[in-house]
Amino acid sequence: MEITGVIGGSGLYELEGFQVQERRSVQTPFGAPSDELVIGELEGRPVVFLPRHGRGHRFSPSDLPYQANIYALKAVGVTRILSVSAVGSMKEDIVPGHVVLPTQFIDRTLARPRTFFENGVVAHVAFADPICEATRAVLKSAVAQAEVPWHDGGTYICIEGPQFSTRAESELFRSWGVSVIGMTNLPEARLAREAELCYATIALSTDYDCWHADHDDVSVEAVVETLKKNVENAKRIVRNAIVAMPAEPSDCGCRTALQHAVMTDPERIPPAKRDALDLLLRRVLD
Ligand SMILES: [Zn+2]
Repeated sequence: MEITGVIGGSGLYELEGFQVQERRSVQTPFGAPSDELVIGELEGRPVVFLPRHGRGHRFSPSDLPYQANIYALKAVGVTRILSVSAVGSMKEDIVPGHVVLPTQFIDRTLARPRTFFENGVVAHVAFADPICEATRAVLKSAVAQAEVPWHDGGTYICIEGPQFSTRAESELFRSWGVSVIGMTNLPEARLAREAELCYATIALSTDYDCWHADHDDVSVEAVVETLKKNVENAKRIVRNAIVAMPAEPSDCGCRTALQHAVMTDPERIPPAKRDALDLLLRRVLD
């Protein structure tokens, strides 16, 4: 069965029209996720919601339990992840309030969990196209249907934070041609690929990063207004996407990402490691 997981970013702590059936505390070999998983249905479709930073926004981007979050979603049967994220705009035409559906990432993080496969088991998954194109196709229709101005494709640069960039960094990143800047999505996308889950980002532009000449002139009220509008837009986009999600797995490659990716001789994988990763390894090693 196809189950949509939604990781809600800053401001998105609930979904509209979501019939909650259960709030489940999940333990994983990588610890506890950011919060309880909220399991239920939206217009008859199975959905699992996880507030990325935990209720009350307790985890900074550097402290997030990325492995536990992805593992927990996989453990309850999620097959596709919609990631909702507030980002800074790095291009003039990506106006605050616009949505970007990126296709690429650049990594400027320093100390994030990068993989499930270490300490005795090695895997190299393909990551040239980090976003699931089949899921992104559903998002394109969902954003258009919500009548929110949006941008098709682009690169999300993921910085460590928690501080925003310096002006020099921001100018450097712009010279690389990136579209948006954020702090969380790349580690999630990596781990989702290793867990053979589809992953696609809905990036909601909140402001121009510090590169923009008008940056310091923007009032707090304007930013708060954009944030509020973005959360409402995100809820409509996510709802549209969940309803339109195909009932069968897509032919996207995400679900077989580990095929031929595990390099370690199965006999040499430490039993404790094999047990901890059974959820991910059983499809390819059994
Ligand atoms: Zn996919």
